[in-house]
Amino acid sequence: MMDDCIFCKIIAGEIPGNKVYEDDHWFAFRDIEPCAPTHVLLVPKKHVANILALDDESAKDFADFFQVVQKIARQEGLEESGFRVVINTGEKAGQSVFHFHAHILGGREMGWPPFPEDK
Ligand code: 5GP
Ligand code: ZN
Repeated sequence: MMDDCIFCKIIAGEIPGNKVYEDDHWFAFRDIEPCAPTHVLLVPKKHVANILALDDESAKDFADFFQVVQKIARQEGLEESGFRVVINTGEKAGQSVFHFHAHILGGREMGWPPFPEDK
């Protein structure tokens, strides 16, 4: 638990979060400002800032990351619509909360490439 980390506080139940999934080392809840009909944030219970902050020890907890994403996608009924997983890493890439989180987005049309302004 990191003091002053909003996601650590949500995991600890100190701040209400709209929980959608929990197991030994993962926690998932709904984004407060959803960008899609389904917008879930998947976070490790143990604080790690982002992909760049992973070390060998904390990386072990990520071994089942894709299986957990799959469980949540099924639970949310996203097989049909498909979904997108976004992990912003670093301020310049749009990371605003420095506790690793994967955005699981689904239930709407999504364009590709992801930066329409580049077209
Ligand atoms: P980032 O910009 O770091 O990739 O994503 C942070 C996400 O956390 C944003 O989509 C933002 O809406 C969400 N968020 C920030 N504060 C809270 C909060 O207190 N509760 C919930 N449920 N989501 C939050
Ligand atoms: Zn944290």
